[in-house]
Amino acid sequence: MLCDFHTHTSLSDGVLSPIELIRRAVVNSYDAIALTDHAGPGTMERIIRETVTACALARSHWNILAIPGIELTHLPPQSIDDAARQAKEAGAWLVIVHGETIVEPVEKGTNLAALHSSHVDILAHPGLLTLEEAQQAASRGIFLEISARHGHCLTNGHVAALAQKAGAQLLLNSDTHSESDLLTTSLANAIIKGSGLDAAACHQVRHVNPQPLIQKLHSH
Ligand SMILES: [Zn+2]
Ligand SMILES: [Zn+2]
Repeated sequence: MLCDFHTHTSLSDGVLSPIELIRRAVVNSYDAIALTDHAGPGTMERIIRETVTACALARSHWNILAIPGIELTHLPPQSIDDAARQAKEAGAWLVIVHGETIVEPVEKGTNLAALHSSHVDILAHPGLLTLEEAQQAASRGIFLEISARHGHCLTNGHVAALAQKAGAQLLLNSDTHSESDLLTTSLANAIIKGSGLDAAACHQVRHVNPQPLIQKLHSH
């Protein structure tokens, strides 16, 4: 099973159109792909509308679960819960928050604000995650991300170790911006192993953790 819950298209800073990205994912043998363009209040309504349309078209003709989502990016932490709620109301099935990666000046407090919102599904690239944040993710059922993206991936080992300590659930996502970023099975396994997880944890991340999320998304 190959799932990827974090990708970008030409609706934000990705290269491919939404339908072309999904087509490439089908050819790469993906089972599920979420389109999660960067957005915030003022831009997310248009992006979600176009993403919903492309994903519905793909699902009706191709054997892939194409999931319309959004990545709330560089918002003031106090605005994240409201923005996440608005994104769901606008039709997003999945809300990701652009976490405190060490390679961008994401405002401190973003990780915790995301983990306190009941409308957020995944905290992406959480950087120097704290134990308190990992415990919050575990108790709220919010997924933490192992990232295949250069820069964001630098703290994968730290994130994986704290998630295991706190019992938080991990997902591997590509954070694709162009077609060469899409995952393959062998790359996915190698990145998870490279974050310090053993074979059992690797199986958990790739094959067990996506299941409840996919079930929840299927209810749309
Ligand atoms: Zn981006
Ligand atoms: Zn991001």
